[in-house]
Formats: sequence, C-alpha cells, structure tokens
Amino acid sequence: MHGRPTDEIRGRVAVIGAGVAGLVAARRLAQRGADVTVWEAEDRVGGQVHTAEVTPGTYLDLGAEALHLAAPGVAALLAELRLDGVRLDETMVVSSPGATRLVTPRGLRALPDGVGPAGPTRLGPVVRSRTLTWSGLARAGLEPAAARRMPALADDGDMSVGDFVTRRFGGAVTHAFVDPLLGTLHSGDVSRLSLRGCAPALVPAATHRRSLVLRRRAAGPPALGFATWPQGLSVLTTALLADQPGVTVRTGTAATSLSRRSDGRYDLAGPGTPAGTPYDAVVLAVPARPAARLLAGLAPQAAATLAAVETADVVTVLVGVPSTVTRDLPGTGLLVPSDAGRLLKAATYLGRKWPHLAGGETCWLRLSAGRAGEHRVQDLTDDRLVDLLTADLRDLTGLAGLAAAPTAAVVRRWPAALPQITVGHPARVAAARATLPPGVVLAGASYDGLGLAAGIRSGEAAAAALSVPEEAR
Ligand SMILES: Cc1cc2nc3c(=O)[nH]c(=O)nc-3n(C[C@H](O)[C@H](O)[C@H](O)COP(=O)(O)OP(=O)(O)OC[C@H]3O[C@@H](n4cnc5c(N)ncnc54)[C@H](O)[C@@H]3O)c2cc1C
Repeated sequence: MHGRPTDEIRGRVAVIGAGVAGLVAARRLAQRGADVTVWEAEDRVGGQVHTAEVTPGTYLDLGAEALHLAAPGVAALLAELRLDGVRLDETMVVSSPGATRLVTPRGLRALPDGVGPAGPTRLGPVVRSRTLTWSGLARAGLEPAAARRMPALADDGDMSVGDFVTRRFGGAVTHAFVDPLLGTLHSGDVSRLSLRGCAPALVPAATHRRSLVLRRRAAGPPALGFATWPQGLSVLTTALLADQPGVTVRTGTAATSLSRRSDGRYDLAGPGTPAGTPYDAVVLAVPARPAARLLAGLAPQAAATLAAVETADVVTVLVGVPSTVTRDLPGTGLLVPSDAGRLLKAATYLGRKWPHLAGGETCWLRLSAGRAGEHRVQDLTDDRLVDLLTADLRDLTGLAGLAAAPTAAVVRRWPAALPQITVGHPARVAAARATLPPGVVLAGASYDGLGLAAGIRSGEAAAAALSVPEEAR
C-alpha cells in the first residue's frame, strides 16, 4: 500500500499483536475505513497491560501500572475514548504525591524534586536531599561549564544516557539517580542505553550544548502526573476497541509465517491457522524477535537487525500484607541501584501510591526484579521469588513485620519483555524500516521506546504510515 497517508483505506489490514501499540493502530486504521483483523497469540488483549482482580473488587496491574498523562498524545486519546474522568464508573485516579525512596550507601533518601529518570534539572533539592557527598555535589554544580565544554552531539549521533549524564554532572549523579531511575525503568545498563531512544528530551541539550540546570522553564500549571483507573489499566486497552467497528480480534492466534504473493498482497498463517483471504497491509506490533522471525524471508536485513535486539526478563510480584505492618514505611516505594547486590529492583506501596487502594486491611506491595543480562528471575520458583523479594524489602526498610508470611501473593513473569534500547538503536530501526516491503510497518516498544505513551504514539504513526494505492481509489 502506498499513496497519501491518512486518507481513506479500503483494504484488509492485519495487525499482529494486541498490545497498546497494535490496538491503537487497529483503531486508527478502522477509523479510516480499513477492514482490520488483529492476530494475538495470547488468549487476552493488552500485552504488557494486564490487570487482575486479585481479591473481589480489587484490581491490580501485573504489567504496566501507571499512565503518564502529560506525555504527548495521551490526553487527546483519553478524551476521544471518554476515559478522561468523564464516565462516572471509570474516573481516573492520579498517583499521590510522596516521594519514592532511593537506596543509597547512606540509607534511604527521598528522591529530590526535579530529578527525573535522566538526572536532575535543579540542584537545590539535590543538595538538600543529602544523597551525594560534598565532592559529588561540587562536581554536579559544574554542569553549566561542562555543557559548554562538551562537544555537541551530531544530528545523526547518539551516546549512552550514562555517558551523557556523567560528562555533564559527574559519575556520582549517574550512580545515585540515573541508574536506579532510568536503569530500573528499562531493566538495563545506563552506560549502554541510548540517549536518543531512552531520554529524547535531553537530545536538544546535547546537540546545542545547553545546560540542563540553567534551562529556563516557562511558568505554567503544575505538570500532570501518573494515573490509572480503579479497575486498572486494562480499562484503556479494552476501551480502544470497545466502540470501534471494523476490527475483528482473534485471540489465541499466533502468526508465525508472513509471505508476499505475486499480486503484492500478504498471506499470514500460524499453527492451526492456515492462510485465508490475503491482506493488503500488515502492522507488525509484536516485539523485535517475533517480528524478525516473520520478516526472515521478506526482509532479511531488517530481520537480522531486529533479531539482535536484546531483552530483559522481568517479574512482578504482588504481595498483600496486613496494613498494620506497613504503616511506618516511608514514601510510596523505593528504587534499588543495580550494584546493591539485591534481587529487588523496585518496590511500590500500592496503598500509598494510589488513593483508591488506601485504607483497607491489606496493603498491597508491588515488587519488581530482573535486569538485562541476568536470568535469575526465570530460574527461581514463585515461592522463592516471594521470599527473596520480601526479604530484600525487609532488609532495606528495616521493617521486621515483613518476615511474617504475606496474606496473599501473585507472581507474573514477563520473559524477554523489555527491549534494550541501546546506543544507535533509533538509527538501526530507521534503517530496518527503510528496507521493509511496501505495506508492512512496525509498531511498539521494540522500535519506538518503552512505555504506554510511546506505544500510543507508535501505533498512531504506524497507522498513519499506511496508505491506499492511488490506483485503487
Ligand atoms: C512489568 C512491566 C511494568 C511496566 N510498567 C509501565 C508503567 O507503569 N507505565 C508505562 O507507561 N509502561 C510500563 N511498562 C512498559 C509498557 O507496558 C510497554 O512498553 C507497552 O505496554 C508495550 O506495548 P507494545 O504494544 O509495544 O507491546 P506488547 O504489550 O508486548 O504487545 C505485543 C503483543 O504481541 C503479541 N505477540 C507476540 N508475538 C506474536 C505472534 N507471533 N503472533 C501474534 N501475537 C503475538 C504478544 O502476546 C503481545 O500481546 C511496563 C512493562 C512491564 C513488562
């Protein structure tokens, strides 16, 4: 399919993968008139959005748990779906203020204001937080001078987030903030993660050698935070197709073979699912490895690039403990640096973070583990994971009551779930995209970055990139 993008589409389109990116792409294509079939290997839609009713009436997320409301594209989609608090039964809840704690060699420290996944934008709160030593602080204060000294990042260049932050603020800042924040988010090594792919907001500062702490911010209303719904994030993935004619979803249907016919259309098949009526276009909204397998015969160069994308195995463990036990926990959770020698990567005290989960007899704790390059979480049994992660939390917080057996636990493994967006990844993906046959597009976290907001934008862009042949209109 080619021609003018965003016009009407009359053809048949297969969307492979019903994660947020695939569902957004399916919705947009159906809105343009396409006859869309979604192929999804699992028996449910949502991909890494997976809400479970852990006890009657309590919905907790086992995958993504918070939507970044301020990210571009999110507010408009929520308004379109009438999910932005308009429906009485699906009013959004915004996470409570209350800082996450960082695990540091000097004990737990509240995450200072103005420190994001890619480092600080204000130094005052960092000074007051007592997270850094005096020498670390002194080096961080040289950031404006370091910004002028560092060579500008070329328009086609890339570097690691860790390298960028270390050269600007010093290694202590990378270690204290970027590793536990960005590294934990991506389950990866910040000295390998791409500045362009994982921290695009820093790229203008890198290309224009602008200081991050001297940057003047326009005054305005406080930024919108993170949100969910009382019924969990599956509200979003369900709503994407709920009122959308023109989309057929086939769950339990893995696609394992994609081939191009002599008329230019595509045959898609899977185990027990022979190729039926061909498709005019295909959206590959699956992670890079399954996409590579599907593209092996059609676009071998792109397939080789995608097959090389590394991933991290991660696990989410939800533990219910009596609220009396967790009453004295400070903040809303904690983040653990990669070199702390702990299996626990992050903990969120759900009853503290989310107003709708506060106040019950049970406080649910969300514990995460798994980093790129280690497969321990895959080898441990569920019981062992619960034991080790609660023991880490107990040691780090000093909360002896956690030694008591939890009242409930849910373990959700996410093998090969988080793509490692390493240095040069955006350029490699762009080159792979350029070799795809006409009518085949990629969407999702493996290509356009982690997170629901990035998935929404990726699905929108994939749908916009497809167009109907001029001659068929
Ligand atoms: C534990 C965890 C916590 C997270 N927390 C957050 C958070 O709080 N906020 C946030 O914004 N993001 C978070 N993320 C990241 C976010 O969830 C993902 O980036 C996003 O959901 C990925 O969407 P996607 O559509 O790209 O891929 P996926 O959701 O992975 O969807 C791909 C789909 O393709 C299907 N599939 C694969 N192969 C085939 C095949 N051959 N045939 C058919 N179907 C196939 C899969 O079953 C899957 O449903 C988290 C991720 C994880 C794992």
